[in-house]
Amino acid sequence: MYREKEARYLTKKERRKIPLQPMPEQNPEIRNKDFSEVTLGYSILDAQYEAARCIQCKDPACVKGCPVGIDIPGFLEMIVEGDLNGSINRVWEKTALPAVCGRVCPQEIQCEVVCVVGKRKNSKPVGIGNLEMFIADWARASGVKNEVVIPPSTGKKIAVVGSGPAGITVAGDLAVKGHEVTIYEAFHRAGGVLLYGIPEFRLAKDIVDYEIQQLKDLGVKIVCNTVVGRTVDVDELMEDYGYDAVFIGVGAGLPNFLNIKGEDLNGVFSANEYLTRANLMKAFDFPKYDTPIIPGRNVAILGAGNVAMDAARTAVRLGAKTVTIVYRRTREQSPSRHIEIHHAEQEGVQFKFLTSPLEFIGDSSGKLVGINCEKMVLGEPDEGGRSRPIPTGEHEYFDCDLAIIAIGTSANPLLTRTTEGLELNRWGNIEADTKTGKTTKKGVWAGGDITLGQATVILAMGMGRDSANSIDAYLRGEEEW
Ligand code: FAD
Repeated sequence: MYREKEARYLTKKERRKIPLQPMPEQNPEIRNKDFSEVTLGYSILDAQYEAARCIQCKDPACVKGCPVGIDIPGFLEMIVEGDLNGSINRVWEKTALPAVCGRVCPQEIQCEVVCVVGKRKNSKPVGIGNLEMFIADWARASGVKNEVVIPPSTGKKIAVVGSGPAGITVAGDLAVKGHEVTIYEAFHRAGGVLLYGIPEFRLAKDIVDYEIQQLKDLGVKIVCNTVVGRTVDVDELMEDYGYDAVFIGVGAGLPNFLNIKGEDLNGVFSANEYLTRANLMKAFDFPKYDTPIIPGRNVAILGAGNVAMDAARTAVRLGAKTVTIVYRRTREQSPSRHIEIHHAEQEGVQFKFLTSPLEFIGDSSGKLVGINCEKMVLGEPDEGGRSRPIPTGEHEYFDCDLAIIAIGTSANPLLTRTTEGLELNRWGNIEADTKTGKTTKKGVWAGGDITLGQATVILAMGMGRDSANSIDAYLRGEEEW
């Protein structure tokens, strides 16, 4: 009924009756064989009706729930009114990566969980993430550019180490304040985990490339194939290259392992390596791209976070017969976004909850053939309040010829070991002030996963923004070290 009128002409009462507009998706039976994006995006009409569900709260909780404070009611109302240019510029005031955040941010625990519309009986929160994706995709398709005006150069030079969401945010924010910014990136392409971790079917790589190009358009220089800590170190950047400030955003790319027997067998991978081969090095297009990968007939994924779901869904697409997620806790305790579990299940991934790996089994040639596990039960809560999984002594064996370990990552010590004066915490992450990103080394800031441990895109961006503000104030002499 509500579709009889354009969204902008609906009364408040009529707006309240609009149901959640579902995000169109590719059929699971078709998409589980290819790498194109699962979500197809809203049409403009869908987006306008969805945005019209927002009741424009006077004191919007969603804005407080967003780590970068996007004016959510503002950009949604502009969509309803048809002012799409105004809407995307409102979003760009707070984020340089809306197409990315709309797709991968955990909105269900940030802006959407506090949405008042979702608190009503039988009602769902406004699809803020889907609308952010819509407006960013619209801008990209229409060639609309950020209208920001760059002030005259301040003459200050800043080196940003790492081109993930933290580095991209710092670089963009400092460039629009008139500073000269250069990003140093270890890989041959910029984008960090957005490029080599999160698979194409969740975040198309041309979107990441587009956002990187926007950064270059702001005057940011990107130097790839440069491992800071090896090719050049942080002190050299400041003393020899003349940078006035350095921001470290190198992520947490060192995979954790289970430390169980058989982990060195042929066929056992870290999720990092598996996904990097598949995404960045295009192993899915072998032999056109010269990157070998074991496709696996029966694949086991150890862990149940976002990375595990990405590895499982990649294995499905590479042609595995069975793909099983093995997790020692329950489904409810899984750190993954629920939508990822849902999509994985739709695509045929199986789950063994309350199951813990004990040993990888190999054949006489050192090839993985199976995995021994132990069944668990939930016991008393741990320090964090989560019920602890307790071994039962009951064992289970199943065949697998590819196992992918996805139990988190830690800080890579390459840069931190070669930089004197940087204090680290007990996990090897850089100690940085939570409000400013200042480290214990003068002139050096840090943010993102290298300070937080493996976290999220939006938290890395939030820290990048805080660091950029602090660097700017420091370089202008408005903030003491
Ligand atoms: P990164 O994105 O890790 O970028 C760091 C960059 O620094 C990399 O490009 C690296 O090559 C470079 N670098 C490292 N060392 C050096 C050096 N010495 N010199 C020069 N360059 C260096 N988060 C979400 O919010 N939603 C999701 O759905 C989600 N899914 C994920 C799926 C996967 C598979 C993975 C691995 C992570 C996922 N995350 C997700 C987490 C999220 O991607 C990270 O929290 C985020 O990318 C951290 O940003 P960052 O800028 O700190 O680091």
